[in-house]
Amino acid sequence: MKCPRCKNENKLYFYEDTKGIYCRKCIRFGKVYVNQHIVSPQVYKPKIQTKIHLDYELSDVQKDAIQKVELLYEHHNKVLVYAACGAGKTEITLQQIQQHLKDGKKVGYAIARRQVVIELAERLAQAFPGVNVIKVCGGYTNVIDGDLIVCTTHQLYRYHKCFDLLVLDEMDAFPFANNEVLQQLAINACCGKMLLLSATPEAQHFQEVKDGYMGQVSIFERPHKHPLIKPKIFRLPSILQYVFCFLCVMRHKGKWIIFLPKISQVELLEKICRRFIRCRSISSMTTDKDELMAQFNNGDFQIVFATTILERGITIKGVHVAILHGEHVVYTKASLIQMIGRVGRKFDAPTGYAYIFCKRKTKEIEACKKEIIMMNKKAKHV
Ligand SMILES: [Zn+2]
Repeated sequence: MKCPRCKNENKLYFYEDTKGIYCRKCIRFGKVYVNQHIVSPQVYKPKIQTKIHLDYELSDVQKDAIQKVELLYEHHNKVLVYAACGAGKTEITLQQIQQHLKDGKKVGYAIARRQVVIELAERLAQAFPGVNVIKVCGGYTNVIDGDLIVCTTHQLYRYHKCFDLLVLDEMDAFPFANNEVLQQLAINACCGKMLLLSATPEAQHFQEVKDGYMGQVSIFERPHKHPLIKPKIFRLPSILQYVFCFLCVMRHKGKWIIFLPKISQVELLEKICRRFIRCRSISSMTTDKDELMAQFNNGDFQIVFATTILERGITIKGVHVAILHGEHVVYTKASLIQMIGRVGRKFDAPTGYAYIFCKRKTKEIEACKKEIIMMNKKAKHV
């Protein structure tokens, strides 16, 4: 017995009602019976002529990567773009999207987090003037078809065998990573090519490349040609981590994101610090995240205390990063690279500071440092 949607074969997930046997593993996306044929929705596929509009010129490395992706599609249906944080991976996808739209093919752009869907939809609408870019995520599900669909990976269940090109951005991010149901939904939604983007791919992705199932393009140079920021690591007892962190904040003016592993810690630190410094905290419990980040971007306050919720998908000009309790299990190599990757992303602010404060250096910290050094070595820098 097999679920026609999530392909589950574990009998513990199968239940029976008056109509037949159904799967509970993927039930949050609606009830599916094992003998049911999943029907693809009607999606409109007009031929759309559009020009790519960018306010800046692509770097030679980005142009090379775009060409390599095109060449790899001659022999692969899946291509992995392994790009350093801030290397401009979205730009690598634009030509493929343009070509597919021109040929009357459906393009989907999926990413794990809702906030990034909203930002990406805006960016893509600017890059493709005249193209109806729609966002499909929590709060935006009335319209589900448009010229170009940007959605959360959760929403892919709506698009069974719809996309001739499916861009899967940050496929190593929570909750997509290690979620078999979401991963199967992505496979189901794609009936053509897949383009996977990540700054921190997992071992399984590299294995797929090695086994010849997927092509790979690497891009480690940021468009402004400055290297990734190498973190300074301090081994200290907990209390001294806070002291040294605030010395760093006082020494280097500008905005700071200070990462802590727990929601209770970010909230407590905000309570203590707001008496003498302009600061806020952000976590999954924060209700006005968008507004708060806009204020931070405007410089309304200097420090944001954050959980890993801010590790990806945000660009703040001139920001520095400090990570406290760096030995905590919540900090994997990928999340450390992503957090440090927030620094130096802008052309007019390509540098900054990144610190990891920890009781002891974990394997994850060592691996993060090693990988940043590797990426910097492979990139050409000024
Ligand atoms: Zn299922």
